[in-house]
Amino acid sequence: MPWLDTDRALTRNSYYAATAARGAAHPPLSGSATCDVAVVGGGLAGLSAALDLKARGFDVALLEAREIGFGASGRNGGQAIHGLACDQDVIEAQLGLDEARRVWAMSIEALDLLRARISDHRIACDWRDGYLGLATSARKGRALAGWADRIEAVYGYPLTRITPAEVPDWIASERFHSGVHDPQSGHLHPLKYTYGLAEAAQRAGVRLHEGTPVLGLQTHRDGAVLRTPQGDLQARQVLLAGNVYLQDIAPGLAPELGPRIMPVGTYIACSEPLGEARATALVPSRSAVCDTDFVLDYFRTTADHRVLYGGRVSYSTMTPADLPESMRQRMLTTFPQLAGVKVDYAWGGFVDITMNRAPDFGRLAAAPQVYYLQGFSGHGLALTGLAGRLVSEAMAGDAGRFDLLGRLKHRPFPGGRALRTPALVLGMAWYRLRDLIG
Ligand SMILES: Cc1cc2nc3c(=O)[nH]c(=O)nc-3n(C[C@H](O)[C@H](O)[C@H](O)COP(=O)(O)OP(=O)(O)OC[C@H]3O[C@@H](n4cnc5c(N)ncnc54)[C@H](O)[C@@H]3O)c2cc1C
Repeated sequence: MPWLDTDRALTRNSYYAATAARGAAHPPLSGSATCDVAVVGGGLAGLSAALDLKARGFDVALLEAREIGFGASGRNGGQAIHGLACDQDVIEAQLGLDEARRVWAMSIEALDLLRARISDHRIACDWRDGYLGLATSARKGRALAGWADRIEAVYGYPLTRITPAEVPDWIASERFHSGVHDPQSGHLHPLKYTYGLAEAAQRAGVRLHEGTPVLGLQTHRDGAVLRTPQGDLQARQVLLAGNVYLQDIAPGLAPELGPRIMPVGTYIACSEPLGEARATALVPSRSAVCDTDFVLDYFRTTADHRVLYGGRVSYSTMTPADLPESMRQRMLTTFPQLAGVKVDYAWGGFVDITMNRAPDFGRLAAAPQVYYLQGFSGHGLALTGLAGRLVSEAMAGDAGRFDLLGRLKHRPFPGGRALRTPALVLGMAWYRLRDLIG
């Protein structure tokens, strides 16, 4: 697929790859092997599940087509934020208010779990508390304040309001009208965290295999056999955690999942180091920041005092021309005072969006021993960790929480595989226009 080639090119100039120490490679699966649970995908979803499954006593093998952290988990904005990618009203409409409250609480549990894993496994990944949501116009400011009031009243989650007069205390930018601050959310270096989870999983006894694409899955009454180029793995239960890559590496493996997600490109640039004082002057709390536009900008400062600036999207999967310069221009719309600052890195990746931006978890219709996690819709940094925990609960016999999220319904993208990209591009034009109008 052309977008997969684009995706490979997008990994070449990443700040994360340049600043995270990768341990020894894990050997490909070779010959015939057996395990209790086979996990497909060495990103945060697969690794989190593998760790928890192992802790429950399962014998676990994880198969990764390329390298641990190759996908979105090793390239993202590093922002771990409350809630889901969709708004809570999507969940309320489908599951009712009581269950929506449970889902919100799980999203907060995901933040606690992330902190616990960092501390339990002593993962040095530059964690920093704090998230700022900022509105770019008065209209959007009113919507954001209304949203925060409701989240506080209905979900009991406190958020600090930032009035227009207070904005300069929080950010050195004239782009923003008002905002909210959440000290429970935060940010980290995602590739260091992903490698840390993989090391913890390996120490615990999970068998990790890189360079091992799963090309076939044959299910039977007692489990499944996973076919890879150099070996077969027999498992009693299987987790598919392959994100947007799964359908392209092995289109026939779980074809029912493909139409419900769609790869959308998003891009990040990282500046040269600014020094502590200059970086802190930009965002004094050093929180992660997102604006509230539909096509949002997300940015933060790094532990070595750079600005890491994400934004733009490609619904067509085409990489924007001259990525470093185009991202530098985006960064300057927020921080024009960085005009003379060099961009050292620029990269990108694809997120697995669903039509309603709610996550898509479940089991294959014809093979309930095969679980899947997908559709994090650009909001998976913390949620993948919780998703892994829910899979481990379900495989151990307590499926209540996994099945709650599994009840969320998802429509296929219109237009089928060939036509859904152009259809989405057209659909998104309206939202871009709305962002520009203010
Ligand atoms: C540029 C970018 C910025 C983002 N920013 C944020 C952010 O700031 N905050 C946030 O919450 N989320 C963000 N996200 C989303 C977040 O990164 C993802 O939701 C999350 O990492 C998904 O993890 P995963 O394990 O499901 O997928 P991945 O990390 O993509 O891992 C899937 C793995 O499965 C492997 N695989 C697939 N098929 C097979 C197969 N057949 N056999 C073997 N292996 C296979 C792939 O090679 C891949 O390594 C961002 C994503 C991108 C791309």
